[in-house]
Amino acid sequence: MYIVMLGKPGSGKGTVGKMLSESLGIIHISSGELFRSYIKKAGEIGKKIDSYVSKGNLVPDDLAIKLVEKRLLESDCKEGVILDGFPRTEVQAKELDKFLKTQGSKIDIAIELELSDQDIIDRIVKRRVCTNVDCREIYNLEFKKPKQEGICDKCGSKLMQRDDDKIETVEKRLKTYHETSAKLVEYYKAQDLLYAVKLNIHSGKTSEDVAKEVKEYLNNY
Ligand code: ADP
Ligand code: ZN
Repeated sequence: MYIVMLGKPGSGKGTVGKMLSESLGIIHISSGELFRSYIKKAGEIGKKIDSYVSKGNLVPDDLAIKLVEKRLLESDCKEGVILDGFPRTEVQAKELDKFLKTQGSKIDIAIELELSDQDIIDRIVKRRVCTNVDCREIYNLEFKKPKQEGICDKCGSKLMQRDDDKIETVEKRLKTYHETSAKLVEYYKAQDLLYAVKLNIHSGKTSEDVAKEVKEYLNNY
């Protein structure tokens, strides 16, 4: 099964995507994490990627597509994938469709987590992530506090704020979302593949609740 997670940066698609991945037994691939792993390696490609990501800009389509497709060809993707953060532009969505077709496959469903811009800003500036690359657990200082301040519950590593989670960059990323990625909702809707979940951060709904709701939908799908 190929699932695309849609939503603004910080909508919770990463957290929900990971939960779904565990309960469905298919792998979760975040393009943002994939790109950050290149940045960490600090090679030629990593430096190029960093010049976009650190400013809150999108990585150019051709590069993003090349790296994600390379990842999708690895053997752990055979049973399907939950894609998070990719596609992010219409060009990427069309390329992905083409690519999956060559693999005898297709997107089964696109799940959109809908949240207002203000909710997004409130949430992202409080987001902290585990520094351990094999863990990458996501926390929130208000909604999902680590048991011990600054330390990951799962693996005990230090937590940090992502460079691009600072307020100025968040506003830029939201603008980019409205200009480019918002169209994807229409793209999948037109193919009758969209399942949208309306959220607000004060509803008390946890990511677990959202993941459960989506899973129930998928079970009847
Ligand atoms: P978020 O969803 O919180 O914005 P991600 O981890 O998905 O964070 O992405 C971080 C950054 O990586 C983005 O701001 C962008 O610069 C880059 N990026 C991720 N996915 C893509 C993509 N599909 N196309 C272009 N750039 C991307
Ligand atoms: Zn951890």
